Formats: sequence, C-alpha cells, structure tokens
Amino acid sequence: MKLLVTGGAGYIGSHAVQRLVRDGHEVTVVDSLVTGHRAAVDPSATLHELDLRDTPALTELMLATQPDAVLHFAALSIVGESVQQPLRYWDNNVGGAISLLSAMAAGGVERLIFSSTCSTYGEPERMPIREDAPQAPINTYGRTKLAVEGLIQDHAAARPGFSYAMLRYFNVAGCDRSGRLGEDHRPETHLVPIVLQAAAGLRDGVAIFGTDYDTPDGTCVRDYLHVDDLVAAHVCALERLRPGRGDALNLGVGRGYSVRELLAVAKRVTGVDFPVTEAPRRSGDVPVLYADPSRALVRLGWAPECSDLETILSSAWRWHQAHPEGYA
Ligand code: UDP
Repeated sequence: MKLLVTGGAGYIGSHAVQRLVRDGHEVTVVDSLVTGHRAAVDPSATLHELDLRDTPALTELMLATQPDAVLHFAALSIVGESVQQPLRYWDNNVGGAISLLSAMAAGGVERLIFSSTCSTYGEPERMPIREDAPQAPINTYGRTKLAVEGLIQDHAAARPGFSYAMLRYFNVAGCDRSGRLGEDHRPETHLVPIVLQAAAGLRDGVAIFGTDYDTPDGTCVRDYLHVDDLVAAHVCALERLRPGRGDALNLGVGRGYSVRELLAVAKRVTGVDFPVTEAPRRSGDVPVLYADPSRALVRLGWAPECSDLETILSSAWRWHQAHPEGYA
C-alpha cells in the first residue's frame, strides 16, 4: 500500500514507519521535526518536513502521493506542558487534524488510523477501562485528543466511504527490538526513559511522584505496552478498515504495574541499584489506569507478544546504552 504517516519521526511514528517499510509498503512521512528526529525516519521512507497546519502544502502532497491510507501520529503529547500552553496544544493537535482531514478530503483519501489515548477517559470509576467508559479528560492533552475523536466521527458521518480506527493507547514503552530506534523526548517526562537514564548515571536518580495513592504499594499503577506490540496492532487495524466503518479500540495489555514494581524490574534488568526518592504527587496523575483490551483482541485478531516488563525494559536499556545522547 501507499501510506502517509504523520509524526513518522517521533517515538511511536518512527517505529511504525520501520515496520511498514519492512512489510513492503511505500511510506511517505510528514513531520515538522519540532519534536521528531530526522535520524529516526527509516531511510526507505520519504520524509517531508512540513507542519500539518500548512493545508495547501499538505493538500499538494496528498494529491501528489495519493496514499491508500493515513496513519496520524503527529501531536504534542506532554500532559504538564499542555496545561501550561493550552492554545498551542489546541492549535497543533486539533488544528493539525482539521488540516489533515481537509487535505485527505481534497485528495480523496478515505482511510485513517488515529493515535488516541487513555487520557480521554480522565479518571474512570471502573477498572479495567472499556471503550464505552465515559470520556471525561482531566487535562488539555486529553481534551484535544477527545476533540479529534469527535472531529473524525463527524467527518466520517458526512462521507459514506470513509473508514477509521481510533486507537486509545495506554502507556507505550520499550524500544525496537532490532535496536535501531529508541525513545528520545526533550524534555523527558516518561517513567521508563527516566529510569534508564538514572541507571546509566545520566540522572541523579528517580523520584517517585506520589507514594500515598490508594493502591497496593501507594504508587500509581499503569498498563505498559511494548511499542512493537502497539505497532503490530496498527498493522492489524489497517488491514481491517472497511468503507463506512469506524472503530475505537483500547491498546494495552490489560493489567497494571505500580511505579515501584517497574523500578524493581529496572534494577534487575540493568544490574544498577540507582537512587530512588519519594516525591509529592505530580499534578494531573490518575492513581490507576489499565485497559480492558478485549475488543482489540477480538476485532483486530491481535495480542501483545513482548509487553512483559523485562522485555520492555531490556529493549529500551539496549538503546539507551548505545545512544546515551539520544538521537543527537
Ligand atoms: N513517574 C514517576 N517519576 C517520574 C516519571 C513518572 O513516579 O520521574 C510516574 C508517574 O507519576 C506515573 C507513572 O510514573 O504514575 C507513569 O508516568 P509517565 O509519565 O511515564 O506516563 P503517564 O501515565 O503519565 O502517561
């Protein structure tokens, strides 16, 4: 297939591009390189350095490349930053999606895979989270993603042949098991890369944000999914797009691990007893989040294969050791 991938230079997008290229697809990447890395883009893909909000340029590209489908990863995704800079997040995430759908409509492109998030659920009352749980995000990032979900549904309702999958990611972690790709955010806010930077001696240690939650060991519980498993779900979703049909699917493993549990595995995998301190809660953090992934398991015929914490951490550790400076 001919595929257009937005955000293909980012952490998840670059992993997806590599897999799609290896599967024999012809991949065009659109990335502003504001948070993405040129070096992360598979050399067999064609990179266009372009802001999604540049609708004329995006439309021209859509008409020139005539993709069979679009995978839309590009977004700003740091929760704390989103609360500080709401206009930037709404403009980039929602404005970018409006521009993308306009360009797709102009180019007659009717298939879309969208990167959504469990942040759209906010603080659910019941675990595990099913797709029909109320969506009540508690931060700007989650609200922009929920707005794009609504936008896609409205767009699809007006175009009978349109098909889409909105994939709601839980905590994506780990690195490409072939060792070429990694996770490099500036600044880094995610637990797994922070822990590995501490193990590598690049940080003084790890601060646990909150040890007084109503959870078994007092720390937050999350559902960690290996990025290779996440990408595999996208491949399945792409194969299953059908005209006039749309789906929203949770992507997680269906069980949660606490911050302390993850730290213990990280110490074992790296062999480093890095310092750990207890810090106050981080604002906006929900105590417990884990998916009920059964809809994705059934509808996609997909199942996680490498999302145990050992594999997540060892794959990321390998990349962090080989690239202490990230992609720089
Ligand atoms: N966390 C932590 N210390 C850090 C970074 C994260 O204790 O330096 C915790 C955070 O409070 C959350 C969990 O680790 O409970 C996962 O955080 P991350 O930012 O990786 O993902 P999120 O769940 O916020 O999307």
